[in-house]
Amino acid sequence: MLLVRGQANPPLPRLHRVIGRALARHCARRLAILPEDFKPTVSFTFDDFPASALSAALPILQATGMTATWYATSGLLGKSSAVGTVATAGQLRGLQEAGHEIGCHTHGHLDGRKVPAEAYGRDIDENHRVLMELVPGLAIRSFAYPFGGVTVGAKRAAMTRAVTCRSTMAGIARGHVDLALLPANPLYEETLDAAQDVIGRLSQAGGWAIFYTHDVAEAPSPWGCTPATFAAITAAVARAGLRVGTVGAVADQILRRLA
Ligand SMILES: [Zn+2]
Repeated sequence: MLLVRGQANPPLPRLHRVIGRALARHCARRLAILPEDFKPTVSFTFDDFPASALSAALPILQATGMTATWYATSGLLGKSSAVGTVATAGQLRGLQEAGHEIGCHTHGHLDGRKVPAEAYGRDIDENHRVLMELVPGLAIRSFAYPFGGVTVGAKRAAMTRAVTCRSTMAGIARGHVDLALLPANPLYEETLDAAQDVIGRLSQAGGWAIFYTHDVAEAPSPWGCTPATFAAITAAVARAGLRVGTVGAVADQILRRLA
């Protein structure tokens, strides 16, 4: 999730952030190439993730046979957060059994720009340890940067512990793809038009588009959307005939082709 909206940032920290993002884009990459016959693909992802996303979005996904990637912050399980009460360990197990993917989102929901890389890596290890203890048979392969916070150090820490690392940098993956900094597009109430535009561009030019959101509720937080908005996007994806898969499954397909 993002930090505070509409808040002016002092020039120097903003410059540092821009430089940090640029470095993260160009360093420590895990490059892969989408196969030429790669079908236009969508992945739905949920960060944190609040129980409302399960109760509202999961039935919509299940009705169309779609599966998603749910990035869990183990330190928040069952607790209240800015995006609502977070899911419980029991709900995690249900997702795994239903064929969805559970990914890592750090244990303490850390911003990679604000902690040393070593501490960031240890926190990811703790996330893995707790999740694997709670969900028997879980193999974590996917990671998402909390707050979209990424530096070269945080990226190195994450990519050595996961096959893919998802950013909050908008875009559609095409051609050469950095699996350690996958683009992703917000699915917030106010970004519905932009999300529809992503689906249109994906249908026309191909590639892999990842969407992310948090809570799915009638009165969502600024980082979530309503069930109607979520249903509108899944319906648009289905109408366009786009393939839908978890981040891990899509990455596996790409890597199999490279092997
Ligand atoms: Zn988050």
